[in-house]
Amino acid sequence: MQIAVLALQGAFIEHEQMLERLGVSSVEIRQKRDLERPYDGLIIPGGESTVQGKLMRELGLFEPIKKQIEQGLPVFGTCAGLLLLAKKIENDERQHFATMDITAVRNAYGRQLGSFYTEADFQGIGNIPMTFIRAPYIDSVSDNVEVLAAVDGKIVAAKQDNQLVTAFHPELNDNLSVHQYFVNMVSQKA
Ligand code: GLN
Repeated sequence: MQIAVLALQGAFIEHEQMLERLGVSSVEIRQKRDLERPYDGLIIPGGESTVQGKLMRELGLFEPIKKQIEQGLPVFGTCAGLLLLAKKIENDERQHFATMDITAVRNAYGRQLGSFYTEADFQGIGNIPMTFIRAPYIDSVSDNVEVLAAVDGKIVAAKQDNQLVTAFHPELNDNLSVHQYFVNMVSQKA
């Protein structure tokens, strides 16, 4: 198994380290020719959704990756990655891949609470650490979306078929279970 990590901006190295700890090899996607290497899943890291969206479009990565996701490639978006996958962003007219039937709110926790740490239940895993950095949350989901975690009544993790998103950054804590969850999604698909 090989998992690609979008490596244009943001916290991609941390995801690669998590995969390495799980014994899964990763490849970085930085330019168009990287898409030719075989991979079984894709991680879209946290960072800035607008910057990642712009760079992907400029580098000719956007359309081919969108197509791969639509064709069923397992994808895991964290934070900015969630915003890139969301069909709608409540407070931003931009839309990116728009492959997941969720509405997200960008920078949803305001300035004071921009970053925080908590622990909450993740469906099928149990209580896990969650680090939020100027995070979005999910405002609403369609029926075909499974809600996996909520904090203070706001949805912070969800799954729709091949797409997994978290508003928090599991790559910034020591707990490997969300990455393991994604690796399981990838191996079930393979
Ligand atoms: N606020 C960022 C955005 O709008 C997301 C923050 C993050 O990925 N840590 O894209």
